[in-house]
Amino acid sequence: MPLKILFAASECHPFAKTGGLADVVGSLPKYLHELGHDVRVVLPRYYNVDRTKLNRHPAPLGVPMGIIGELWCGIYEGKLPGSEVPVYFIDYEQYFGRENLYTTDGGSGFLDNDNRFVFLSRAAMQLAKMLDFHPNILHCHDWHTAACALYLNTIYANDDHFRECASILTIHNMQYQGEFYNGLMNVLAVGWEHFNFREIERYDRVNLLKAGVTHSTMMSTVSPFYSQEILTPDFGYDLEDTLATRKHDLWGILNGVDLVDWNPKTDKTLPARFDASNLKGKAECKKALQKEMGLPVRNVPIVAMVSRLVSQKGFDVIAEAIHDLLAMDIQMVLLGSGEAWAHFYFGDIAFLYPNKFACKIGFDAALSHRIEAGADMFLMPSRFEPCGLNQMYSQLYGTLPIVHGVGGLEDTVQNYNEATGEGTGFKFYGLTAKNLTNTVGWAVHTWYNRKEHFAAMQKRAMELNYSWAVSAKTYEMLYYEALKRSNKPQP
Ligand code: ADP
Repeated sequence: MPLKILFAASECHPFAKTGGLADVVGSLPKYLHELGHDVRVVLPRYYNVDRTKLNRHPAPLGVPMGIIGELWCGIYEGKLPGSEVPVYFIDYEQYFGRENLYTTDGGSGFLDNDNRFVFLSRAAMQLAKMLDFHPNILHCHDWHTAACALYLNTIYANDDHFRECASILTIHNMQYQGEFYNGLMNVLAVGWEHFNFREIERYDRVNLLKAGVTHSTMMSTVSPFYSQEILTPDFGYDLEDTLATRKHDLWGILNGVDLVDWNPKTDKTLPARFDASNLKGKAECKKALQKEMGLPVRNVPIVAMVSRLVSQKGFDVIAEAIHDLLAMDIQMVLLGSGEAWAHFYFGDIAFLYPNKFACKIGFDAALSHRIEAGADMFLMPSRFEPCGLNQMYSQLYGTLPIVHGVGGLEDTVQNYNEATGEGTGFKFYGLTAKNLTNTVGWAVHTWYNRKEHFAAMQKRAMELNYSWAVSAKTYEMLYYEALKRSNKPQP
Protein backbone atom coordinates (compact mmCIF):
# COMPACT_ATOMS: atom_id res chain seq x y z
CA MET A 1 0.00 0.00 0.00
CA PRO A 2 1.26 3.52 -0.75
CA LEU A 3 2.55 5.47 2.23
CA LYS A 4 2.52 9.13 3.17
CA ILE A 5 6.08 10.04 4.05
CA LEU A 6 7.34 13.30 5.52
CA PHE A 7 11.08 14.01 5.27
CA ALA A 8 12.34 16.63 7.71
CA ALA A 9 15.92 17.68 7.06
CA SER A 10 18.40 20.52 7.29
CA GLU A 11 19.89 19.99 3.80
CA CYS A 12 18.65 18.94 0.39
CA HIS A 13 20.46 19.09 -2.93
CA PRO A 14 20.17 21.38 -4.92
CA PHE A 15 18.75 23.87 -2.39
CA ALA A 16 21.20 23.63 0.48
CA LYS A 17 24.20 21.37 0.82
CA THR A 18 27.28 20.86 2.91
CA GLY A 19 27.66 17.11 2.43
CA GLY A 20 26.17 13.72 1.64
CA LEU A 21 23.02 14.31 3.73
CA ALA A 22 21.88 16.77 1.05
CA ASP A 23 22.43 14.21 -1.70
CA VAL A 24 20.27 11.66 0.11
CA VAL A 25 17.42 14.05 0.85
CA GLY A 26 17.59 15.38 -2.71
CA SER A 27 17.40 11.91 -4.29
CA LEU A 28 15.65 9.32 -2.16
CA PRO A 29 12.23 11.07 -2.14
CA LYS A 30 12.13 11.02 -5.96
CA TYR A 31 12.64 7.27 -6.04
CA LEU A 32 10.09 6.68 -3.28
CA HIS A 33 7.67 8.81 -5.28
CA GLU A 34 8.29 6.58 -8.30
CA LEU A 35 7.38 3.60 -6.13
CA GLY A 36 3.98 5.22 -5.67
CA HIS A 37 4.37 6.90 -2.27
CA ASP A 38 3.27 10.40 -1.38
CA VAL A 39 6.54 11.94 -0.21
CA ARG A 40 7.05 15.50 0.96
CA VAL A 41 10.13 17.29 2.19
CA VAL A 42 10.44 20.02 4.84
CA LEU A 43 13.52 22.26 4.81
CA PRO A 44 14.62 25.61 6.21
CA ARG A 45 14.45 28.51 3.76
CA TYR A 46 18.08 29.56 3.91
CA TYR A 47 19.17 32.88 2.50
CA ASN A 48 20.32 31.41 -0.84
CA VAL A 49 16.96 29.79 -1.64
CA ASP A 50 15.27 32.18 -4.01
CA ARG A 51 11.72 32.85 -2.76
CA THR A 52 10.63 34.40 -6.04
CA LYS A 53 10.73 30.96 -7.71
CA LEU A 54 8.47 29.43 -5.05
CA ASN A 55 4.80 29.62 -4.14
CA ARG A 56 3.97 31.31 -0.90
CA HIS A 57 1.28 29.73 1.27
CA PRO A 58 -1.29 32.35 2.22
CA ALA A 59 -1.40 31.49 5.93
CA PRO A 60 1.57 31.70 8.28
CA LEU A 61 2.50 28.76 10.48
CA GLY A 62 2.58 28.99 14.27
CA VAL A 63 5.40 27.06 15.95
CA PRO A 64 5.25 26.71 19.75
CA MET A 65 8.76 27.06 21.19
CA GLY A 66 8.18 26.50 24.90
CA ILE A 67 9.58 29.31 27.00
CA ILE A 68 10.29 31.42 23.87
CA GLY A 69 6.61 31.42 23.00
CA GLU A 70 4.93 30.84 19.67
CA LEU A 71 6.92 31.91 16.60
CA TRP A 72 5.20 32.57 13.29
CA CYS A 73 6.88 31.73 10.02
CA GLY A 74 6.09 31.77 6.31
CA ILE A 75 5.80 28.63 4.18
CA TYR A 76 7.05 28.49 0.61
CA GLU A 77 6.47 25.54 -1.66
CA GLY A 78 8.48 24.23 -4.58
CA LYS A 79 9.32 20.87 -6.14
CA LEU A 80 12.38 18.68 -6.08
CA PRO A 81 13.83 19.38 -9.54
CA GLY A 82 12.86 16.79 -12.11
CA SER A 83 10.01 15.44 -9.98
CA GLU A 84 6.59 16.08 -8.54
CA VAL A 85 7.84 15.83 -4.94
CA PRO A 86 6.70 18.91 -2.98
CA VAL A 87 9.31 20.72 -0.89
CA TYR A 88 8.14 23.05 1.87
CA PHE A 89 10.50 25.76 3.02
CA ILE A 90 10.17 27.09 6.54
CA ASP A 91 10.79 30.80 6.20
CA TYR A 92 11.93 32.37 9.44
CA GLU A 93 14.43 35.06 8.68
CA GLN A 94 15.78 35.36 12.20
CA TYR A 95 16.92 31.71 12.28
CA PHE A 96 17.58 30.77 8.69
CA GLY A 97 18.21 34.00 6.76
CA ARG A 98 21.95 33.36 6.70
CA GLU A 99 24.35 32.33 3.95
CA ASN A 100 25.93 29.44 5.85
CA LEU A 101 23.90 26.55 7.13
CA TYR A 102 25.46 25.86 10.51
CA THR A 103 28.53 27.96 11.10
CA THR A 104 29.94 31.44 10.87
CA ASP A 105 32.52 32.16 8.16
CA GLY A 106 35.15 31.41 10.79
CA GLY A 107 33.77 27.90 11.12
CA SER A 108 32.28 28.00 14.62
CA GLY A 109 28.71 26.81 15.08
CA PHE A 110 26.00 29.50 15.30
CA LEU A 111 25.20 30.13 18.96
CA ASP A 112 21.49 29.59 18.37
CA ASN A 113 21.79 26.26 16.50
CA ASP A 114 19.84 24.64 19.35
CA ASN A 115 16.80 26.86 18.89
CA ARG A 116 17.11 26.87 15.10
CA PHE A 117 16.77 23.14 14.72
CA VAL A 118 14.30 22.54 17.52
CA PHE A 119 12.25 25.13 15.65
CA LEU A 120 12.66 23.26 12.35
CA SER A 121 11.61 19.98 13.98
CA ARG A 122 8.57 21.47 15.66
CA ALA A 123 7.66 23.35 12.48
CA ALA A 124 7.67 20.06 10.52
CA MET A 125 5.11 18.61 12.95
CA GLN A 126 2.95 21.73 12.82
CA LEU A 127 3.19 21.92 9.05
CA ALA A 128 1.89 18.38 8.62
CA LYS A 129 -1.17 19.48 10.56
CA MET A 130 -1.60 22.70 8.66
CA LEU A 131 -1.41 20.85 5.33
CA ASP A 132 -3.79 18.19 6.61
CA PHE A 133 -1.10 15.69 5.64
CA HIS A 134 -1.34 12.58 7.84
CA PRO A 135 2.07 10.93 7.54
CA ASN A 136 2.58 7.21 8.02
CA ILE A 137 6.30 7.80 8.23
CA LEU A 138 8.13 10.72 9.70
CA HIS A 139 11.67 10.42 8.36
CA CYS A 140 14.20 12.46 10.38
CA HIS A 141 17.81 13.01 9.40
CA ASP A 142 20.66 13.48 11.87
CA TRP A 143 20.45 15.54 15.04
CA HIS A 144 18.91 18.53 13.29
CA THR A 145 15.49 16.92 13.03
CA ALA A 146 15.87 14.04 15.51
CA ALA A 147 13.52 15.93 17.85
CA CYS A 148 10.63 15.06 15.51
CA ALA A 149 10.82 11.47 16.80
CA LEU A 150 10.74 12.77 20.35
CA TYR A 151 7.75 14.98 19.58
CA LEU A 152 5.86 12.13 17.99
CA ASN A 153 6.20 10.13 21.23
CA THR A 154 5.40 13.01 23.57
CA ILE A 155 3.52 16.16 22.61
CA TYR A 156 1.84 14.52 19.61
CA ALA A 157 1.48 11.02 21.10
CA ASN A 158 -2.27 11.34 21.47
CA ASP A 159 -2.81 13.63 18.55
CA ASP A 160 -5.21 11.99 16.14
CA HIS A 161 -3.36 13.58 13.25
CA PHE A 162 -0.36 11.28 13.80
CA ARG A 163 -2.37 8.21 14.77
CA GLU A 164 -0.89 6.14 11.94
CA CYS A 165 2.65 7.50 12.07
CA ALA A 166 5.95 5.77 12.86
CA SER A 167 9.31 7.53 12.86
CA ILE A 168 12.63 6.75 11.25
CA LEU A 169 15.91 8.37 12.21
CA THR A 170 18.63 8.12 9.59
CA ILE A 171 22.07 8.69 11.05
CA HIS A 172 24.37 10.21 8.44
CA ASN A 173 27.12 10.99 10.92
CA MET A 174 27.46 9.97 14.59
CA GLN A 175 30.01 12.64 15.34
CA TYR A 176 27.53 15.49 15.21
CA GLN A 177 24.97 15.03 17.95
CA GLY A 178 23.41 18.42 18.64
CA GLU A 179 24.39 18.61 22.30
CA PHE A 180 23.40 21.75 24.15
CA TYR A 181 22.89 23.41 27.52
CA ASN A 182 20.07 21.72 29.43
CA GLY A 183 17.93 24.88 29.41
CA LEU A 184 16.94 23.75 25.92
CA MET A 185 14.45 21.46 27.68
CA ASN A 186 12.36 24.57 28.26
CA VAL A 187 12.25 25.22 24.53
CA LEU A 188 11.62 21.61 23.55
CA ALA A 189 8.75 21.74 26.04
CA VAL A 190 8.26 17.98 26.22
CA GLY A 191 8.51 17.95 30.04
CA TRP A 192 11.58 17.63 32.27
CA GLU A 193 10.66 14.04 33.10
CA HIS A 194 12.29 13.15 29.74
CA PHE A 195 15.60 14.68 30.83
CA ASN A 196 17.17 11.45 32.01
CA PHE A 197 20.11 9.36 30.81
CA ARG A 198 17.89 6.88 29.00
CA GLU A 199 16.26 9.49 26.78
CA ILE A 200 17.75 12.93 26.21
CA GLU A 201 20.38 13.70 28.80
CA ARG A 202 24.11 13.22 28.38
CA TYR A 203 26.49 14.65 30.99
CA ASP A 204 23.76 17.00 32.14
CA ARG A 205 23.24 18.37 28.65
CA VAL A 206 20.50 17.91 26.08
CA ASN A 207 21.61 15.55 23.32
CA LEU A 208 19.18 15.76 20.41
CA LEU A 209 20.61 12.80 18.51
CA LYS A 210 20.23 10.67 21.63
CA ALA A 211 16.60 11.79 21.89
CA GLY A 212 16.12 10.54 18.34
CA VAL A 213 17.90 7.27 19.02
CA THR A 214 15.67 6.50 21.99
CA HIS A 215 12.41 7.75 20.53
CA SER A 216 12.47 6.80 16.84
CA THR A 217 10.55 3.69 15.92
CA MET A 218 13.47 2.45 13.84
CA MET A 219 16.81 3.77 12.68
CA SER A 220 19.12 3.43 9.76
CA THR A 221 22.66 4.33 8.88
CA VAL A 222 23.79 5.08 5.35
CA SER A 223 25.87 1.94 4.90
CA PRO A 224 25.66 -1.58 6.40
CA PHE A 225 29.17 -1.64 7.86
CA TYR A 226 28.69 1.70 9.63
CA SER A 227 25.58 0.33 11.38
CA GLN A 228 27.87 -2.22 13.07
CA GLU A 229 30.75 0.17 13.70
CA ILE A 230 28.66 2.71 15.64
CA LEU A 231 27.93 0.07 18.26
CA THR A 232 31.62 0.19 19.24
CA PRO A 233 33.47 2.85 21.28
CA ASP A 234 35.70 3.74 18.33
CA PHE A 235 32.81 4.91 16.17
CA GLY A 236 29.85 5.42 18.55
CA TYR A 237 31.01 8.80 19.91
CA ASP A 238 29.76 7.90 23.37
CA LEU A 239 26.29 6.88 22.26
CA GLU A 240 27.28 3.26 21.57
CA ASP A 241 25.58 2.02 24.75
CA THR A 242 22.34 3.81 23.94
CA LEU A 243 22.52 2.48 20.39
CA ALA A 244 23.19 -1.04 21.68
CA THR A 245 19.83 -1.00 23.46
CA ARG A 246 18.22 -0.42 20.06
CA LYS A 247 20.45 -2.48 17.82
CA HIS A 248 17.60 -4.70 16.65
CA ASP A 249 15.82 -1.62 15.31
CA LEU A 250 18.88 -0.42 13.39
CA TRP A 251 19.41 -1.15 9.71
CA GLY A 252 22.22 -0.17 7.37
CA ILE A 253 21.12 0.90 3.90
CA LEU A 254 23.72 1.95 1.38
CA ASN A 255 23.16 5.31 -0.27
CA GLY A 256 22.57 5.31 -3.99
CA VAL A 257 23.96 7.72 -6.53
CA ASP A 258 21.80 10.18 -8.39
CA LEU A 259 22.55 8.95 -11.91
CA VAL A 260 20.95 11.99 -13.50
CA ASP A 261 23.65 14.11 -11.84
CA TRP A 262 26.51 11.63 -11.86
CA ASN A 263 26.77 9.87 -15.20
CA PRO A 264 29.93 10.36 -17.31
CA LYS A 265 27.94 9.50 -20.43
CA THR A 266 25.61 12.49 -20.07
CA ASP A 267 27.37 14.84 -17.64
CA LYS A 268 27.07 18.33 -19.13
CA THR A 269 29.65 19.84 -16.81
CA LEU A 270 32.46 17.84 -18.49
CA PRO A 271 34.51 18.97 -21.48
CA ALA A 272 34.02 15.48 -22.99
CA ARG A 273 31.85 12.49 -22.16
CA PHE A 274 32.74 8.81 -21.92
CA ASP A 275 31.60 5.38 -20.79
CA ALA A 276 33.03 2.00 -19.85
CA SER A 277 33.42 0.94 -23.48
CA ASN A 278 35.39 4.01 -24.54
CA LEU A 279 37.62 6.11 -22.29
CA LYS A 280 38.77 8.56 -24.97
CA GLY A 281 36.62 11.29 -23.45
CA LYS A 282 38.22 10.65 -20.06
CA ALA A 283 41.67 11.34 -21.50
CA GLU A 284 40.36 14.69 -22.81
CA CYS A 285 38.90 15.46 -19.39
CA LYS A 286 42.30 14.76 -17.86
CA LYS A 287 44.10 17.22 -20.12
CA ALA A 288 41.43 19.85 -19.55
CA LEU A 289 41.70 19.36 -15.78
CA GLN A 290 45.49 19.78 -15.87
CA LYS A 291 45.04 23.01 -17.82
CA GLU A 292 42.26 24.28 -15.57
CA MET A 293 44.27 23.60 -12.39
CA GLY A 294 47.46 25.08 -13.83
CA LEU A 295 49.39 21.80 -13.89
CA PRO A 296 51.68 20.72 -16.75
CA VAL A 297 49.84 18.58 -19.30
CA ARG A 298 51.81 15.35 -18.85
CA ASN A 299 50.93 11.69 -18.88
CA VAL A 300 51.29 11.05 -15.13
CA PRO A 301 48.63 9.68 -12.78
CA ILE A 302 46.45 12.31 -11.13
CA VAL A 303 45.42 11.58 -7.54
CA ALA A 304 42.41 13.70 -6.61
CA MET A 305 40.60 14.75 -3.44
CA VAL A 306 37.25 16.52 -3.10
CA SER A 307 36.16 16.89 0.47
CA ARG A 308 35.29 18.80 3.55
CA LEU A 309 38.70 19.53 5.07
CA VAL A 310 38.01 18.17 8.53
CA SER A 311 39.63 15.60 10.76
CA GLN A 312 37.00 12.97 9.82
CA LYS A 313 38.37 12.92 6.30
CA GLY A 314 41.98 12.23 7.37
CA PHE A 315 43.51 15.42 6.02
CA ASP A 316 45.93 15.61 8.93
CA VAL A 317 47.33 12.25 7.77
CA ILE A 318 47.53 13.45 4.16
CA ALA A 319 49.38 16.52 5.44
CA GLU A 320 51.86 14.29 7.25
CA ALA A 321 52.41 12.16 4.16
CA ILE A 322 52.35 14.90 1.53
CA HIS A 323 56.08 15.26 0.87
CA ASP A 324 56.49 11.49 0.47
CA LEU A 325 53.47 11.36 -1.82
CA LEU A 326 54.80 14.17 -3.97
CA ALA A 327 58.18 12.44 -4.25
CA MET A 328 56.41 10.07 -6.67
CA ASP A 329 55.94 11.02 -10.31
CA ILE A 330 52.30 12.02 -9.87
CA GLN A 331 50.09 15.09 -9.79
CA MET A 332 47.59 15.82 -7.02
CA VAL A 333 44.45 17.92 -7.18
CA LEU A 334 42.53 19.07 -4.13
CA LEU A 335 39.13 20.78 -3.93
CA GLY A 336 37.77 21.43 -0.47
CA SER A 337 37.04 23.74 2.39
CA GLY A 338 36.84 23.37 6.12
CA GLU A 339 39.34 23.85 8.90
CA ALA A 340 41.47 26.99 8.54
CA TRP A 341 44.82 25.25 9.09
CA ALA A 342 44.15 23.06 6.04
CA HIS A 343 43.44 26.06 3.82
CA PHE A 344 46.85 27.52 4.66
CA TYR A 345 48.74 24.26 4.70
CA PHE A 346 47.60 22.94 1.33
CA GLY A 347 47.83 26.44 -0.17
CA ASP A 348 51.51 26.42 0.84
CA ILE A 349 51.99 22.94 -0.62
CA ALA A 350 50.62 24.19 -3.96
CA PHE A 351 53.13 27.04 -3.78
CA LEU A 352 56.00 24.65 -3.00
CA TYR A 353 55.11 22.12 -5.72
CA PRO A 354 53.56 24.20 -8.53
CA ASN A 355 54.01 21.41 -11.10
CA LYS A 356 52.66 18.64 -8.92
CA PHE A 357 50.02 19.90 -6.53
CA ALA A 358 47.05 22.13 -7.34
CA CYS A 359 44.39 23.16 -4.90
CA LYS A 360 41.22 25.15 -4.86
CA ILE A 361 39.79 26.12 -1.51
CA GLY A 362 36.03 26.45 -1.67
CA PHE A 363 32.89 24.58 -2.65
CA ASP A 364 32.46 24.11 -6.41
CA ALA A 365 30.01 21.44 -7.56
CA ALA A 366 30.86 21.68 -11.28
CA LEU A 367 34.60 21.45 -10.64
CA SER A 368 34.03 18.39 -8.45
CA HIS A 369 32.56 16.65 -11.53
CA ARG A 370 35.49 17.68 -13.72
CA ILE A 371 37.92 16.39 -11.10
CA GLU A 372 36.14 13.03 -10.80
CA ALA A 373 36.26 12.71 -14.58
CA GLY A 374 39.82 13.90 -15.17
CA ALA A 375 41.65 12.11 -12.35
CA ASP A 376 43.02 8.55 -12.36
CA MET A 377 42.68 7.89 -8.64
CA PHE A 378 40.67 9.36 -5.80
CA LEU A 379 42.14 9.52 -2.30
CA MET A 380 39.77 9.11 0.67
CA PRO A 381 41.55 8.19 3.90
CA SER A 382 38.57 8.88 6.18
CA ARG A 383 38.91 8.12 9.89
CA PHE A 384 35.29 7.04 9.75
CA GLU A 385 32.91 7.20 6.84
CA PRO A 386 29.16 6.67 7.34
CA CYS A 387 28.75 6.03 3.61
CA GLY A 388 30.84 8.35 1.49
CA LEU A 389 29.66 9.32 -1.94
CA ASN A 390 32.82 10.40 -3.66
CA GLN A 391 34.30 6.90 -3.79
CA MET A 392 31.10 5.81 -5.58
CA TYR A 393 31.17 8.75 -7.99
CA SER A 394 34.86 8.01 -8.61
CA GLN A 395 34.20 4.41 -9.53
CA LEU A 396 31.41 5.38 -11.91
CA TYR A 397 33.81 7.87 -13.54
CA GLY A 398 36.60 5.28 -13.90
CA THR A 399 38.71 6.93 -11.19
CA LEU A 400 39.94 4.25 -8.84
CA PRO A 401 39.48 5.04 -5.13
CA ILE A 402 42.30 4.67 -2.60
CA VAL A 403 40.55 4.32 0.76
CA HIS A 404 40.87 3.54 4.43
CA GLY A 405 38.67 0.45 4.91
CA VAL A 406 35.98 1.82 7.23
CA GLY A 407 32.19 2.25 6.99
CA GLY A 408 30.83 2.72 3.51
CA LEU A 409 34.34 2.68 2.05
CA GLU A 410 34.72 -0.90 3.24
CA ASP A 411 31.28 -1.77 1.81
CA THR A 412 31.72 -0.21 -1.62
CA VAL A 413 35.35 -0.62 -2.66
CA GLN A 414 36.63 -4.04 -3.64
CA ASN A 415 40.36 -4.25 -2.99
CA TYR A 416 42.76 -4.89 -5.87
CA ASN A 417 44.04 -8.46 -6.10
CA GLU A 418 47.38 -8.44 -7.89
CA ALA A 419 47.20 -12.14 -8.67
CA THR A 420 43.83 -12.07 -10.42
CA GLY A 421 43.48 -8.42 -11.40
CA GLU A 422 40.15 -8.27 -9.56
CA GLY A 423 39.01 -5.23 -7.60
CA THR A 424 37.76 -1.68 -8.06
CA GLY A 425 40.22 0.22 -5.88
CA PHE A 426 42.99 0.14 -3.29
CA LYS A 427 42.37 -0.24 0.45
CA PHE A 428 44.40 0.00 3.60
CA TYR A 429 43.67 -0.63 7.26
CA GLY A 430 45.16 1.42 10.07
CA LEU A 431 45.14 5.14 9.35
CA THR A 432 48.82 6.12 9.39
CA ALA A 433 50.88 8.25 7.01
CA LYS A 434 52.99 5.18 6.23
CA ASN A 435 50.03 2.99 5.27
CA LEU A 436 48.55 5.80 3.21
CA THR A 437 51.80 6.48 1.35
CA ASN A 438 52.37 2.79 0.69
CA THR A 439 48.87 2.35 -0.70
CA VAL A 440 49.09 5.39 -2.96
CA GLY A 441 52.45 3.97 -4.07
CA TRP A 442 50.78 0.64 -4.80
CA ALA A 443 48.10 2.32 -6.92
CA VAL A 444 50.67 4.45 -8.75
CA HIS A 445 52.84 1.41 -9.39
CA THR A 446 49.79 -0.40 -10.81
CA TRP A 447 48.99 2.57 -13.06
CA TYR A 448 52.54 2.59 -14.46
CA ASN A 449 53.34 -1.13 -14.58
CA ARG A 450 50.11 -3.17 -14.64
CA LYS A 451 48.18 -1.13 -17.18
CA GLU A 452 45.96 -4.03 -18.22
CA HIS A 453 44.88 -4.59 -14.61
CA PHE A 454 44.28 -0.87 -14.05
CA ALA A 455 42.14 -0.63 -17.20
CA ALA A 456 40.12 -3.74 -16.27
CA MET A 457 39.46 -2.31 -12.81
CA GLN A 458 38.30 0.98 -14.32
CA LYS A 459 35.85 -0.84 -16.56
CA ARG A 460 34.59 -2.99 -13.65
CA ALA A 461 34.16 0.08 -11.44
CA MET A 462 32.25 1.97 -14.12
CA GLU A 463 29.80 -0.87 -14.52
CA LEU A 464 28.84 -0.99 -10.82
CA ASN A 465 25.20 -0.44 -10.04
CA TYR A 466 24.68 2.24 -7.41
CA SER A 467 21.18 3.14 -8.44
CA TRP A 468 18.91 4.68 -5.82
CA ALA A 469 16.16 2.39 -7.08
CA VAL A 470 17.68 -0.51 -5.11
CA SER A 471 18.16 1.48 -1.89
CA ALA A 472 14.69 3.03 -2.16
CA LYS A 473 13.19 -0.47 -2.14
CA THR A 474 15.06 -1.24 1.08
CA TYR A 475 13.84 2.00 2.67
CA GLU A 476 10.33 0.98 1.69
CA MET A 477 10.83 -2.30 3.57
CA LEU A 478 12.16 -0.37 6.56
CA TYR A 479 9.07 1.85 6.59
CA TYR A 480 6.65 -1.09 6.56
CA GLU A 481 8.68 -2.80 9.27
CA ALA A 482 8.62 0.36 11.42
CA LEU A 483 4.85 0.59 11.09
CA LYS A 484 4.58 -3.02 12.16
CA ARG A 485 6.85 -2.51 15.16
CA SER A 486 5.12 0.70 16.21
CA ASN A 487 1.79 -1.12 16.41
CA LYS A 488 0.24 1.76 14.52
CA PRO A 489 -2.54 0.92 12.06
CA GLN A 490 -1.15 0.27 8.59
CA PRO A 491 -2.54 1.90 5.49
P1 ADP B 1 30.26 14.05 3.75
O1 ADP B 1 28.76 14.00 3.70
O2 ADP B 1 30.83 13.45 5.00
O3 ADP B 1 30.83 15.41 3.49
P2 ADP B 1 30.17 12.41 1.36
O4 ADP B 1 31.25 11.78 0.55
O5 ADP B 1 29.06 11.54 1.81
O6 ADP B 1 30.87 13.14 2.57
O7 ADP B 1 29.52 13.57 0.50
C1 ADP B 1 30.23 14.70 0.15
C2 ADP B 1 29.48 15.39 -0.95
O8 ADP B 1 29.82 16.77 -0.97
C3 ADP B 1 29.82 14.87 -2.31
O9 ADP B 1 28.73 15.06 -3.19
C4 ADP B 1 31.01 15.77 -2.69
O10 ADP B 1 31.24 15.83 -4.07
C5 ADP B 1 30.56 17.06 -2.16
N1 ADP B 1 31.64 17.99 -1.80
C6 ADP B 1 32.39 18.00 -0.67
N2 ADP B 1 33.25 19.03 -0.68
C7 ADP B 1 33.05 19.68 -1.85
C8 ADP B 1 33.62 20.85 -2.45
N3 ADP B 1 34.57 21.54 -1.84
N4 ADP B 1 33.14 21.24 -3.64
C9 ADP B 1 32.17 20.55 -4.26
N5 ADP B 1 31.58 19.45 -3.76
C10 ADP B 1 32.01 19.01 -2.56
